[in-house]
Amino acid sequence: MKEFSFFSPGTLDEALSLLSQHKDSVSVIAGGTDIVLELNERAHTAQAVVDISKIKDLRYVKVVDGVVRIGALSTFTDLENDPYIRDHVKSLYSACYYVGSPQIRNLGTIGGNVANASVAGDTPTALISLDATVVLRSAAGKREMKITDFYSGAGKTQLEKDELLTEIYFDAPTENMATAYTKLGKRKALVIVVIGLAVLLERDCNNICSKAQVVIGAVARYPKRLPSIEHYLVGKPITKETFEGCRDMFSQIVYDMIPTRASVGYKKESVKGVANKTFNSILKDFSLSGGEE
Ligand SMILES: Cc1cc2nc3c(=O)[nH]c(=O)nc-3n(C[C@H](O)[C@H](O)[C@H](O)COP(=O)(O)OP(=O)(O)OC[C@H]3O[C@@H](n4cnc5c(N)ncnc54)[C@H](O)[C@@H]3O)c2cc1C
Repeated sequence: MKEFSFFSPGTLDEALSLLSQHKDSVSVIAGGTDIVLELNERAHTAQAVVDISKIKDLRYVKVVDGVVRIGALSTFTDLENDPYIRDHVKSLYSACYYVGSPQIRNLGTIGGNVANASVAGDTPTALISLDATVVLRSAAGKREMKITDFYSGAGKTQLEKDELLTEIYFDAPTENMATAYTKLGKRKALVIVVIGLAVLLERDCNNICSKAQVVIGAVARYPKRLPSIEHYLVGKPITKETFEGCRDMFSQIVYDMIPTRASVGYKKESVKGVANKTFNSILKDFSLSGGEE
């Protein structure tokens, strides 16, 4: 490992001041589950490393005025154990629940998962379906943007070297909404996501779909909204038959995203099962027939 100066600030202001001083050659560590491997492999050659894990003020989940606010240092375990997330934001709960092993979930943070912008990240797919906003802070101030705008290409984000991702927030799902996330891969086997599918649906008092936010992860180089599926769902009754009617569309979308990739045959078939499972979970949440047992 290359030598570097190590800092472990206890407050956000201290951390931002350190980032500002060392911005020409600095790396941030939160839980360390991604970046420590990279530091060991010398993929990072920063002269300064700022460990932000002791900043307690960045570890929270709260719901204020209908908005869910999550501090960037909240771990997957924090989110999995949070009763509000478990009961009201099932997509995000499932995305956290299916991450790696207990050790990784205890250390890995949602901020690190979002900032790392890995094609195999679970929470970005769920957060895009929730239309989340990210908050970035530097010593110079604060900026906010939709998480879809935060990603600027494969593995790339809008984060500047002197900035920290401090918070992620989204509108709290209402009573007439249901959310779900399905990961193709095995829990506790450290399997990297093969397909991730996150859905948020809203229905009106006649059980007609009034809003659909559908995101697929791990197929293209970053998670993508699926406007054609969303368009198909809006205006239709929320039933098993409606959902079955778009299974082949998922298959075609996956094929169109990766027509020459070796995995295309497997992914275009398995996405139908992933869609099935996700929509069954939505039916169950709405207490409609056809939902999972
Ligand atoms: C064995 C194993 C299994 C895994 N399984 C999964 C899985 O199933 N699903 C999944 O999604 N991921 C998985 N991961 C990846 C990893 O655990 C997650 O991406 C994790 O959320 C990263 O968070 P962290 O706090 O450990 O980030 P770190 O490793 O500390 O940092 C990751 C990157 O984000 C930057 N960063 C971190 N926090 C901030 C911040 N607040 N502001 C600005 N930049 C920041 C760092 O500088 C670094 O570039 C796995 C990793 C391992 C080693």
